[in-house]
Amino acid sequence: MTLQISLQKLHDPWVERISRELASGEGVRAGFSEQLVRFYELLEQTVMTGDTAWLDPILYDWGRSPTETNLEEGDYYVSFVVNRMIALTIETARDTLNKKDALELLAAVIPILTHSLSVVVRYEMETRVAHISNELGKTQEKLQQLDRNKSNFISVAAHELKTPLTLIEGYTSMMVDVAQSSEEPQMANYLNGVETGIHRLRHIIDDMIDVSLIDNNLLTLNFQPVWVSHMFNLLFNELKKTVDERKQTLTIKSFEGSEIMIYADSERLYQALHNVVSNAIKYTPDNGTITINGRLLPGFVEIIVADTGIGISPEHQAIIFEKFGQLGRTDLHSSGKTKFKGGGPGLGLPITRGIIEAHGGTIWVESEGHDEVKLNGSKFHILLPTRTEPTDPSMTKFFGQFEVNKKDVETESSVKETPPTNNPAA
Ligand code: ADP
Repeated sequence: MTLQISLQKLHDPWVERISRELASGEGVRAGFSEQLVRFYELLEQTVMTGDTAWLDPILYDWGRSPTETNLEEGDYYVSFVVNRMIALTIETARDTLNKKDALELLAAVIPILTHSLSVVVRYEMETRVAHISNELGKTQEKLQQLDRNKSNFISVAAHELKTPLTLIEGYTSMMVDVAQSSEEPQMANYLNGVETGIHRLRHIIDDMIDVSLIDNNLLTLNFQPVWVSHMFNLLFNELKKTVDERKQTLTIKSFEGSEIMIYADSERLYQALHNVVSNAIKYTPDNGTITINGRLLPGFVEIIVADTGIGISPEHQAIIFEKFGQLGRTDLHSSGKTKFKGGGPGLGLPITRGIIEAHGGTIWVESEGHDEVKLNGSKFHILLPTRTEPTDPSMTKFFGQFEVNKKDVETESSVKETPPTNNPAA
């Protein structure tokens, strides 16, 4: 029997068997049989001409046919059907034709069917990849929208809270004046408590405003001549009382680079350093040590704030510079800014990073991990460009007299520390 006659003989039992085995329900079966008839005709053409391109259009249609449900559930339905088709073709040929004709037919048909399987798998995979990319795009769009909503909410809430807070501040200070001259001594105490709360609220609102400024690239810096050592002295004086209360030691080392003048926004830089050092105090138990050190690098001054505190786990190190990185830990939220482990709204480090990056610098942390018994400690590194000219040229003239030649700077002591391995400026 010729191959062509074998193919004709196989046609009806093949369509009947495959549609019976692979399609359930009358309606589905009718449509599926039509597809099978079309496929079989193209298969015959392919066998006769030896050109697999005949099958391409139907394989393309099949590969693109998974329904939304198939795609969502991740079923590889079409590939499965073609795979089963190969097995059923072998069975039907064996049942319908004699051994020799069956072998001859299968030798011609099986390579075409396996080729069809690989083509359909590829098309089906492409359909899935397109579906997943589409879903990913939609999710990304939703996330961006959520992030925008969050930023807008922070910004609006902060500004809306600011006005009533200013009123409360004004009235409270008037009440403090009245209370001081009144016969009621307890009143002044109560009002002190109210003032502390107001002060804390003001700080949080200012932080929220700073975060939205940084988020929207609206943080403007007022560059002035700044001496890093001068900032450290101010910090030391401000934090000394807290450090003493916590029986901690705050050591500020003099290093090459701490005495040179750089152009920076002194208020913002102070705010950034204050955040890092306050955190060091907050996350170090009583009797611990906080050391501020640093070194001069080509084009940068590096400030290192090291503590002997609870340390930070690697997963946590990756998120603490993101806003609200710590929000999940509501158990740690506390109004005490320097109380041991008293977490805040998690805005301090994102603001610090925003300020340092706006200066063209960078900040990172090193820690062996979080351990409240071993006390691994943390080391925050801040790299600041040793900018020796203000950004505004008109200021250069005015501040030019402050220019200091780096070589002329006398260093009191040099830092003997080994440089950190992940130092991006090294
Ligand atoms: P918070 O208001 O929670 O202190 P920050 O943005 O200042 O927010 O810090 C984020 C988180 O980083 C903190 O909640 C804390 O878990 C961790 N962290 C910051 N500095 C230190 C440090 N020196 N030692 C240990 N953990 C720290």
